Amino acid sequence: MAQSKFRAIIIGGGPVGLTIANGLERAGLDFLVVERHPSIVSESGAGIMAWPHTVRIFDQLGLTGVCEGRYIPVHDKTTIRLDGTETRTGPIFDYLHDNHGYPCMNFSRPMLIQTLLDGLNADSRSKIRIDTGIHDIKMTKNGVRVHLTSGGFEDGSIVIGADGVHSRTREIMQRLAEEAGEEFAKEEEPIVANYQILYGRAKRVPKVQVGNFYETHGTYRSSQISADEKRMHFGIYRKLPTPTTELKKEYSKEEVAEFVEAFSDVMVMPNLSFPELYENCEWTRLVNQHEGLMKHWYYGRVVLAGDSCAQMTAAVGMGVNTGIQSAVLLVNKIQKLLSSDSNPDTETLGRAFEEYQNTRREEAGMICDVAAKTIRINTWDSYMSWFLGDVIFPRMMSDEKLMTKAGLSFVRGAYKFDFIQADLKSGKMPWVS
Ligand SMILES: Cc1cc2nc3c(=O)[nH]c(=O)nc-3n(C[C@H](O)[C@H](O)[C@H](O)COP(=O)(O)OP(=O)(O)OC[C@H]3O[C@@H](n4cnc5c(N)ncnc54)[C@H](O)[C@@H]3O)c2cc1C
Repeated sequence: MAQSKFRAIIIGGGPVGLTIANGLERAGLDFLVVERHPSIVSESGAGIMAWPHTVRIFDQLGLTGVCEGRYIPVHDKTTIRLDGTETRTGPIFDYLHDNHGYPCMNFSRPMLIQTLLDGLNADSRSKIRIDTGIHDIKMTKNGVRVHLTSGGFEDGSIVIGADGVHSRTREIMQRLAEEAGEEFAKEEEPIVANYQILYGRAKRVPKVQVGNFYETHGTYRSSQISADEKRMHFGIYRKLPTPTTELKKEYSKEEVAEFVEAFSDVMVMPNLSFPELYENCEWTRLVNQHEGLMKHWYYGRVVLAGDSCAQMTAAVGMGVNTGIQSAVLLVNKIQKLLSSDSNPDTETLGRAFEEYQNTRREEAGMICDVAAKTIRINTWDSYMSWFLGDVIFPRMMSDEKLMTKAGLSFVRGAYKFDFIQADLKSGKMPWVS
């Protein structure tokens, strides 16, 4: 299992795993992606808003051309109450575009994944093994051996767990640490679900405006929806009666029907009710939304990125954006290390992973906090969250100021690949790097 040439085994071919693959390809480093599904691009998946800092990464990867026509362009955001009364509207996405030089791109997950796949050359695409999960990881001083559920194994130098919230890599990593006397799992706060989300896609009803993002706020219920010429993509949130650590909850038909009934009086746009949206649905999925931030992001030669180590609800649209930032910093660290040492030992790798973990845990933690506050404001979780979020805050801060604040906090200082030279755009608010 001694690995003479560096090879990263990436577990998970989601947005974070594929961003890492793109970065490693551009860095000239070898990798393998292991994806448990029989195809990388699924037929359905959530609507995912790529913020300008993610679009800048796509530009570095030469992907903005292929993005065209694949996302819903958004300009305005309109907030309404459950009865459809409009409370706020403004061109927040245009402010973000002006400030940072890149638009927000509202992808469906399949289109986002297809775009990242298109970023890989033919040789890299042959380094994706589909239809297999991972059974175990063995780690020695010099490398890793990943045992696959489909049989056989793959050898590499490191394992990167980009396998989402139910990460098997995280589980194995914690077990390996515990076998070595570290109490990783016990030191972790549990991942908790406080909210459910029914997300899906519906045929566009002609009266629905294209290019606007609508958000409904109300007691324990909220929604987000936007439309292109043909389709509407949405997420409908409800607070769970009690928080749960049951993360893989599969909802029955009866439970879905109860959820749908609970929204029978809710408007998702000023002129579109939830029942009208539901009637036009092509598919929907009801799941729990997870909130959590792992303390340990690496052990030995195993390191985590994306939802496997930081989970938040979709309310602020930051899960992928945050995971991609982690992916970029991790690849930067690996590339820098490998440029001076072609076969780093476990201690040297550990130092780079620790820097990555400490930096990203703090940054991702800030975003998890904002996401947690946002969903509680949107669902009027308490008198204070309604009063501060929906009464005081909008009076104190215009949309323009709010987007300037968001830009300063999350966008302007974002990472890009250090080793890819490209002519990148900027807006009113210059990038830090
Ligand atoms: C309704 C909804 C809307 C959202 N909207 C946004 C948004 O607007 N903006 C945003 O930034 N984020 C959004 N998110 C969050 C976002 O989807 C996640 O943060 C993101 O998908 C995490 O990416 P990931 O690659 O870390 O994990 P995942 O997307 O979960 O991908 C993990 C991959 O690993 C594979 N895998 C899992 N286990 C194994 C295994 N054992 N072996 C091999 N492969 C494995 C999976 O099949 C999958 O392909 C939304 C989420 C939802 C549910």
